[in-house]
Amino acid sequence: MWDSAGRRYLDATSGAFCAQLGYSRPDLVEAMSEAASRVPHARPSISDSEHARAYRRRLLAAAGAPYKRAVLTSSGSEAVDVALKIAHRYQVACGNPERTRVAYLAGHYHGATLGALSVTGYSTRRAPYEAAVGPGRGGPSAFCARCFRGLSYPSCRVACADAAVGTEPPAAFILETIPGAGLGVVVPPPGYLARVRTLCDGSGALWIADEVLTGFGRTGALFSWQRLAEQSPDAKAEPDLVVFGKGAGAGYAPLAGVLIADRILRTLEPEEFRHVQTYGGNPVAAAVGSRVLDALESGKLYERVREAEAIYREAFEPLRALDSVFDVRGLGALWGIELAESRAGAPFPREAGVAERVAAACRERGVLVHAGSGVVDGTRGDFVVLAPPLVTEDDSIVEIATALRDSIAQVTGA
Ligand code: PMP
Repeated sequence: MWDSAGRRYLDATSGAFCAQLGYSRPDLVEAMSEAASRVPHARPSISDSEHARAYRRRLLAAAGAPYKRAVLTSSGSEAVDVALKIAHRYQVACGNPERTRVAYLAGHYHGATLGALSVTGYSTRRAPYEAAVGPGRGGPSAFCARCFRGLSYPSCRVACADAAVGTEPPAAFILETIPGAGLGVVVPPPGYLARVRTLCDGSGALWIADEVLTGFGRTGALFSWQRLAEQSPDAKAEPDLVVFGKGAGAGYAPLAGVLIADRILRTLEPEEFRHVQTYGGNPVAAAVGSRVLDALESGKLYERVREAEAIYREAFEPLRALDSVFDVRGLGALWGIELAESRAGAPFPREAGVAERVAAACRERGVLVHAGSGVVDGTRGDFVVLAPPLVTEDDSIVEIATALRDSIAQVTGA
């Protein structure tokens, strides 16, 4: 990216974590232009455009079993609301209309609408609306570096999952598969997703996987739960509803939605779930979506991200040598660096704005990173998130890591 003064930046956050393919894609511009000149809009309640139909088919084929239906929206927040509505209709169809509680996790972010905020545990986003959505911090996340009970994996048997679901059966359990913006990329340990699946099956709750930030190649697979399911304990752990957005439109078009598993659809019928919005399934966005899937597959970007993962690890792991780096974590092209005042992880005072100052120092060096805080108690606990476009080359990854190291050293003195 170049700003209006001609300064060059490496965008290590892919805009709002969505520009998976970078900023110069004539193929996507062509798809938009072709779709817009044919039929720019089709009213969803009257007709379905060819582009929307083709995209749903293409996406369901790419996602594979057990997903049989895709509802399209134009933002991740709306898609989360759709998933919550499906969970509600599902419980009604099962004869449990009183079951409305949705279990959610501390630090997990699900969007900006009131529905999404009502299941968001990322305190700084939720707090201003607590009068409307109720106070709530959410259950414990699968965060081994800061375990809620000070346990060790694997002898803990992922007790965090049981604690999060609680004893009263919820209507659904929503989580970011890998919490990004609010917790700084906490990858759950092997067996966590399998435990979530078992708990949801046992209580009749739907598992909603929020893949808005982690989908579309970010971790070297279409969705990060699929990447994690390659680990043996999680092999059969499939979410009931998969919420997607961001990378689906690669920053070129607002495209998001929900994939629904066959089992849920069969229960909803003949209850037939309807969700209609003006721009849901917009032909231009759908055309971009199909072209993004083409690019991910034909450009071998899943393979590229898996290969790049080793380069990211090699570039970021040495940051641990800095006294102010508490943790380095990530998967594929999604990484988090947690900063702390002490080696043991005592957080910096929030007023010091350490993460924001590190991000500003990176920007001075021509690298854009995401600054966040709140991993310790919802307020304190600074971190930086890196999620460069999937097409980022090796030497740019090294340039990002160097700028980050120099910036952390400059701001924290260590
Ligand atoms: N879920 C997650 C995990 C997100 O990161 C975001 C956006 N940061 C959303 C939902 C909301 O998506 P949108 O901004 O497209 O409404």
